[in-house]
Amino acid sequence: MSLEELYREVILDHYRNPRNRSPLPQVDAHAEGTNPLCGDEVTVDLHLDDGTVAGISVRGQGCSISQSSASMMSEAIKGRKLPDIARLTHRFKQMMDIESPEQAGLDADRPGAALGDLEALRGVRKFPVRIRCANLPWTTLEEALSGLES
Ligand code: ZN
Repeated sequence: MSLEELYREVILDHYRNPRNRSPLPQVDAHAEGTNPLCGDEVTVDLHLDDGTVAGISVRGQGCSISQSSASMMSEAIKGRKLPDIARLTHRFKQMMDIESPEQAGLDADRPGAALGDLEALRGVRKFPVRIRCANLPWTTLEEALSGLES
């Protein structure tokens, strides 16, 4: 199986069996995001405990890229501390940024920077119109977290 096929399998698995969709008993941060270009919708609910994302619920509808990205994101940030999540968000966006000279792998050893399954979305960069789909859950996450700081 080629790496490309493996990545496609990972994306389809998350799309067909999305993780962390159950509603949370307690929601401390919430945001909804849309990508009108593709019709994607993502809702992010977070339960925070002492600077850690103790619970996450991600729901939505749309293309396989946006929904699998949401599912992978939910697994990647669950149980993580906020500074790690900020780093991971930065790493992911950097990976998806076709103009960024710095590419994934360079600081993969830093805490919170390992992308895991999210690496599977790297191939999306070949289809610039879909990059927005992949980024949607992350921009929605950032919006949810930005509401906390006041
Ligand atoms: Zn899409």
